[in-house]
Amino acid sequence: LGPTTSQLRYREDTFGARNYAPLPVVFSRGEGPWLWDVEGRRYLDMMSAYSAVSFGHSHPRLVRALTEQAGRLALTSRAYSNDRLPLMLERLSALLGYDQALPVNTGVEAVETAIKAARKWAHTIKGVPEGQAEIIVCAGNFHGRTTTVVGFSSEAQYRAGFGPFAPGFKTIPFGDADALETAIGPNTAAFLFEPIQGEGGINIPPAGWLTRCAEICRTRNVLLIADEVQTGLGRTGKLLAVDHEGIRPDGVILGKALGGGLLPISAFLADERLMQVFRPGDHGSTFGGNPLAAAVASEALALLADEKLAERAARLGALFLTRLQAIDNPLIREVRGRGLLIGMELDVTRVTARTAAEWLLARGLMTKDTHDSVLRFAPPLIIDEATLMKAAEVVGDALGDL
Ligand code: PLP
Repeated sequence: LGPTTSQLRYREDTFGARNYAPLPVVFSRGEGPWLWDVEGRRYLDMMSAYSAVSFGHSHPRLVRALTEQAGRLALTSRAYSNDRLPLMLERLSALLGYDQALPVNTGVEAVETAIKAARKWAHTIKGVPEGQAEIIVCAGNFHGRTTTVVGFSSEAQYRAGFGPFAPGFKTIPFGDADALETAIGPNTAAFLFEPIQGEGGINIPPAGWLTRCAEICRTRNVLLIADEVQTGLGRTGKLLAVDHEGIRPDGVILGKALGGGLLPISAFLADERLMQVFRPGDHGSTFGGNPLAAAVASEALALLADEKLAERAARLGALFLTRLQAIDNPLIREVRGRGLLIGMELDVTRVTARTAAEWLLARGLMTKDTHDSVLRFAPPLIIDEATLMKAAEVVGDALGDL
């Protein structure tokens, strides 16, 4: 028998930096939508590692792609070409409809890539003086944790103590197109936004907002850049969340599910007119575009299409949302979502989302709190209907007991 939950938690807490406060469980195995802890208890994953495990844990096709590629070639760096990256890039272009992609590793790196692209485009093509380019972002955003990116977060804790921060960002309210129009000036390079704010609390903007933002950016010669790290690749019931309004951003940022839940890979996608700002030596990453990640991402993109996961997320998400909305409990203030990205807003004067998440975990359901009041439900997109409906029942019963 290996170490127990409490022994492992003690070691993690003792020898690891305490930059997380994990819910009290230690997992050692996963399969499909299920995880098992070290004592052998089974849990249903309704969180999917912050929406990264869209294909479920250890999907056989992804594991095969990973192990075959790992046994052959994992890393060359981009000082040379490898035989997997070109095929992945071609597939990404065919699926998403952008000329080119720049592969990196984590979500925030792809956000940084987009920021660099936008600034260099503003300077070299739009004619903004060097060092003056501005990027407009939304209050309540979450784009990752680098110093530049937390510098334009509106969350005090994400910034506190980590300054000084990079200048050149302007914040407007989320969902307010008039504010975007007003904020744009001659030096504005881009508007960077999440089509639905994930970490911010599953915030869905008013209908028509994206369409208006797209129009404003087009007429004012400002790049529209969608951070689809959390919402992309089928999660919200469409391939991209911007597809709900049929808009086409100038740049799209993907991450999380692109690595099939097995390894980190992210990408910034754009047409050549924007991507051409990058010249050899301008940008890069040792592991970016490695053949192992490229092989897994290729298979993940193929799976997404073969298993029609976006359509599945739309259908199951609508059913699940209806079930959650039907729970009659004064602790619940609102249930909102799109596809399989759903937030349940609780009445924090009675219960915090953290307490509710712990309560559900004790009943075998993995969820995650965000911002004190919101419980996030984002199961793997491969989850079956019966399991999902049973989960809604468990949520209703558990909250009834709270
Ligand atoms: N952008 C969005 C919309 C996200 O939700 C996240 C992570 O939650 C990120 C960027 C950062 O991704 P990563 O944690 O892989 O750097």
